[in-house]
Amino acid sequence: MPRLRFLVRGVVQGVGFRPEVYRLALEAGLCGTVWNHAEGVTIEAQGPADALARFEQALRESMPLPARVEAVAAEAIPEVPAEVDFRILPSGPGGEGRAVVPPDLAVCPACAAEVATPGERRHRYPFTNCTRCGPRYTLIERLPYDRPHTAMKGFPLCPDCEREYRDPLDRRFHAQPVACPTCGPHLTLRSPAGTVLAEREEALQTAATALVEGAVVALKGLGGYQLLVDATSSEAVGRLRERKRREEKPLAVMFPDRASLELDCELSLAEAAWLEAPEAPILLLRRRAGGAVAPGVAPGNPRLGAFLPTTPLHRLLLGAVGRPLVCTSGNLSDEPMAYEDAEARARLGGLADLLLVHNRPIVRPVDDSVLRIDGDGPTLLRRARGFAPLAVPLALGGPCVLALGAHQKNTVALLKGGELIMSQHLGDLASLEGAGVQERTVTDLLDFFGARPERIACDLHPDYASTRLAEGLAKAWGVPLTRVQHHHAHGAACAAEHGLKGPVLALAWDGTGLGADGTLWGGEALRIDGAAFSRIGHLKPFPLPGGEVAAREPRRAACGLLWATQGPGEAPPSLAGAFSAGDWARFQTMATRGVNSPLTSSVGRLFDAVAALSGLRAKRGFEGQAAMTLEFAAGEQGEGTYPWDLQDGVADPAPLVAAVLADVAAGQPAGVIAARFHGALAELALAWAKRAGLPDVVLSGGCFQNARLTALVQATLGAAGFRVHRPRRFPANDGCISLGQAAVAAATPIGR
Ligand code: ZN
Ligand code: ZN
Ligand code: FE
Repeated sequence: MPRLRFLVRGVVQGVGFRPEVYRLALEAGLCGTVWNHAEGVTIEAQGPADALARFEQALRESMPLPARVEAVAAEAIPEVPAEVDFRILPSGPGGEGRAVVPPDLAVCPACAAEVATPGERRHRYPFTNCTRCGPRYTLIERLPYDRPHTAMKGFPLCPDCEREYRDPLDRRFHAQPVACPTCGPHLTLRSPAGTVLAEREEALQTAATALVEGAVVALKGLGGYQLLVDATSSEAVGRLRERKRREEKPLAVMFPDRASLELDCELSLAEAAWLEAPEAPILLLRRRAGGAVAPGVAPGNPRLGAFLPTTPLHRLLLGAVGRPLVCTSGNLSDEPMAYEDAEARARLGGLADLLLVHNRPIVRPVDDSVLRIDGDGPTLLRRARGFAPLAVPLALGGPCVLALGAHQKNTVALLKGGELIMSQHLGDLASLEGAGVQERTVTDLLDFFGARPERIACDLHPDYASTRLAEGLAKAWGVPLTRVQHHHAHGAACAAEHGLKGPVLALAWDGTGLGADGTLWGGEALRIDGAAFSRIGHLKPFPLPGGEVAAREPRRAACGLLWATQGPGEAPPSLAGAFSAGDWARFQTMATRGVNSPLTSSVGRLFDAVAALSGLRAKRGFEGQAAMTLEFAAGEQGEGTYPWDLQDGVADPAPLVAAVLADVAAGQPAGVIAARFHGALAELALAWAKRAGLPDVVLSGGCFQNARLTALVQATLGAAGFRVHRPRRFPANDGCISLGQAAVAAATPIGR
């Protein structure tokens, strides 16, 4: 009888892969063995040639989700004559460390049904999971992925769970986090001071009652603590915003079920598929008028971040509450999400009225992912739960590279063997906690993937925590450090995602990043060719009085832009209300003297300035809010444009600013101004594309989270014959910077 050995790579551990192999082997009447090891799964199968062929085809083509087979290598080996059955062997040792660590997945239909069925062993058990669903990345301490290497090591299996765990035909066969009410973790309700108020079902019911009454509850979720309040109560939402110091930034809402979600949101077929997918991201859905969710959840926003319960715990809680809940990460604004119990109690005690916790440790923080479906398909805006740390095959050869990313919306990336492994979204690195999480994430990824980076990449900015970590690691390991200009990285990320090899034009439009000339860039047209780039065009720089503060105060960008384009002078009437008596004069003086007024070519700051000039938003808010306000104001308005003064690729916005001011003075609605402004940016994109003369154009940078701008640029350039590529599987914002840095470093010749 022939005997074949298969090496299967991909997402093949912790996803019910071996039981499926076992079933297939029994069905085909094959003998042999299967085992996990650090490179993936190896199968030895012996039997008639036609049965082996069917078995191999099934391996390649029909393994059920969430398993994902990336490669199957087969070789003939000598027959084992005495073999009589098919067996699942214990995991092999670490080896090369190439196995894919599975991401955390939302509760599967079978587990959900079990939890909902009276009389089942796991009826109403919040920590139910199986090989097809539940926690993985958030509880794995090291590989190979076996229970003693996870956060479940402190929960010995009871005889019933043990039986399921050992039964190759059970869907919990070798489900490492398997648990039941007898042997698994349980819920505890605590006061902010730490007093135990209730346990198990009573804890859940008491928390649910408190939520209905308007309390803020901190929930220890899958990948971190979350803050929950009744999303239908304006008072409760207001209380959460006040305590979290998050004034207007949209909050995500978890709905008890699809029917209740559809009362508040429109749902296309594609969106419905993502809503119920194992990755279960937060979806940015169009809101329906007259829904139940309070307006304060996402003020002025035509979309709502919505999702369904991702774990049995969330299902049970939402079911008991019977209404949508705001579900946001447990932190103060701009701090990382809390995930360790002592730390959570210290940090969330003042924010929450109650803490609903459990005794299963969270090994690493993983936030919810965020996805939006546009006319031309999905865009991942935040890559985290369900996606991290899946390896993405990208045609990027060369050395093993570790890239440390930017400063905000940070991710780190590991390029190894032509695959890109991106960490979960880690958030801002401004706090010590944030920088610490990044450092631990680097260690984890290197361990999990057995990587020894030959190069390190980071941003040009010397003061980013990510840059300092990169410098330290490069020195400690004695490997070269590649510093990659921020917008070069943006463009390289999108080019790498789409497998573009030759030179491309990158339109990299964002808030700001340090430019090669020491000014703040952000409205760039770069010709990118691997490790090299040149600046084809950019906005003519204008000063930002106050520097970084300007990102949160659009009026400062407006003041600096007017100073640069119209010369020093008085505030126009539409802006006068936004400045106290002395502020305008002070900002103008700062610009004139060049005191704390860095120059920028940022399109993001131009959005801010235009929003302020058109009277939409002048003071305070979160970064990007003014741009969102302009995008939404443009709404269904027709198109239009404003003029630029373009010389040698440098776009002077002076004529645009004059036209905006004229429109404001003529009483044009803000929506018309917003639509014309978007049109002007699309024309600028076209002018730069023609100047570059390259067939492929990539879009990147936070400005391209703006669906209207992106669609307009795609249409305008597409009509002129350019191939336009936009970020899809990786974010347009700084979440993609680590990918771009890795691509550039991999292409950089040694010795630079
Ligand atoms: Zn399940
Ligand atoms: Zn049990
Ligand atoms: Fe950026």
